[in-house]
Amino acid sequence: SRQLVWFRTDLRTIDHTALSHAAERGPVIGVVVRTLQQWREHGHGANKLDFWQRGIAALSEELTALRIPLKILDIDTFERTPDALLELTRDLACEALHFNDEYGLNEQNRDRRVHATLSEADIAVHRYTDQVIFTPGTLKTGSGDYYSVFTPFLKAWLKQVGADQLAQHDAPSRQAPMAGIATDPLPPLPAGEQAGQAFHELWPAGEEAAADRLARFLDRRVRHYQDQRDFPEETATSELSPYIALGMISPRQCLNAAAARNHGHLGDGDRNLTGWISELVWREFYQHLLVGYPRLSRGEPFKLETRQLAWRDSEEDFAAWCEGRTGYPLVDAAMKQLVTRGWMHNRLRMVTAMFLTKHLLIHWHRGEQFFLQHLVDGELGSNNGGWQWAASTGTDAAPYFRIFNPTTQAQRFDPDGAFIARYLPELAELAPRARHEPNSQQRRDTGYPAPIVDHRAARQRALEAFAPADNG
Ligand code: FAD
Repeated sequence: SRQLVWFRTDLRTIDHTALSHAAERGPVIGVVVRTLQQWREHGHGANKLDFWQRGIAALSEELTALRIPLKILDIDTFERTPDALLELTRDLACEALHFNDEYGLNEQNRDRRVHATLSEADIAVHRYTDQVIFTPGTLKTGSGDYYSVFTPFLKAWLKQVGADQLAQHDAPSRQAPMAGIATDPLPPLPAGEQAGQAFHELWPAGEEAAADRLARFLDRRVRHYQDQRDFPEETATSELSPYIALGMISPRQCLNAAAARNHGHLGDGDRNLTGWISELVWREFYQHLLVGYPRLSRGEPFKLETRQLAWRDSEEDFAAWCEGRTGYPLVDAAMKQLVTRGWMHNRLRMVTAMFLTKHLLIHWHRGEQFFLQHLVDGELGSNNGGWQWAASTGTDAAPYFRIFNPTTQAQRFDPDGAFIARYLPELAELAPRARHEPNSQQRRDTGYPAPIVDHRAARQRALEAFAPADNG
């Protein structure tokens, strides 16, 4: 009998746990519940919505090749999802609903309600762990707590991971044609949320594009990963984050492909490959934290004592940060990268987040929201984790007194100023050293703004604001 598979942030057909289990039980119909209003309320902007939309379209084509019809439920919010799914399951005479778990608090609550509503109507609900290797809650410290520090989490993860957790599922075989059930057309996004052609070329959607990117990364770039991953001009990282965030590729596919080039090892061997693998585990760490600490999804800090911090309200400074006018070239170039590409290099996410929360002493919530508005890979767990790391309010966070000097960071990680010149063409004519120098006459002559804060004074102000919270 018929099985309904609900595709969420797992827009693929290969290695999809729910899809492959459902296909073993009977003919499959797919469904996507497009809750645009809810996604906007979660903070996602046009870049992400456009990529999401194209990901759904690509999935629809991939499913069509397998003769799996895809239904689209276009409803605004999670609120109506349980009833809408119940109605669809009944209309299509499906015996069961299958889906892979998600870990944001709203998503967990929605899924609980879906489960209850369908179970009451005697429709079976099958849920799977698919987005992470270990189901959150199954990897804990000796005293039974969620890990709140990454390194021991990584150690435990590496110790316990085995062939079972990493076993991949093939895409199901092409099924017999299903009479009378057609794939729904995908309504276009509102015009204001459609990205342009250049953005589409930068981020082609779908599992084929994701697989290509993974192969290209592992064939070449990964060889220099450890030495170059902190240098934004080097493009030494995979740029797979948008694909992983929407599940156009699974973490298992990434891990297995990396291990295959490392004699099957995940934790030892080639340091470039193990370094990359550990970044994938960072992502999983943050997913586990969402389940272990629901307050993270509610916007609260991990370190509760930091709730009292005296953040500054300065619209002027916040606008300068958003618009890349702080007068610190690496920060400004990074913010231009975010807005023009919908993606920012990891080193720069750390630099810009620390600049906002320490130098400007502006609440991390505001930066977290601004990032989500622009990121094509925007995702609650990693974004919140990254922001709270930089703000020293999170797990494993940077100690509050270790404040990056944005000029030194630029000299170290963009030594010849090439990245700065790419995004701030007004500085391209200057010699590399003059591009970095905060307040040189040469730099002022280009019209580029003077620094909005002095590094040493801002650092001192941050230390004074953070010290009381640190002492409890
Ligand atoms: P690679 O270096 O190729 O890493 C491979 C994969 O590992 C990434 O695609 C990603 O899935 C995961 N990963 C890598 N670094 C991290 C990390 N530090 N934390 C968690 N997962 C990681 N990542 C997101 O996916 N979405 C976000 O919204 C997000 N927001 C961030 C905000 C801040 C303030 C900071 C400091 C980091 C944030 N990150 C986020 C993590 C990281 O910056 C990106 O995952 C990374 O830059 C993506 O580039 P890549 O795919 O080339 O990474």
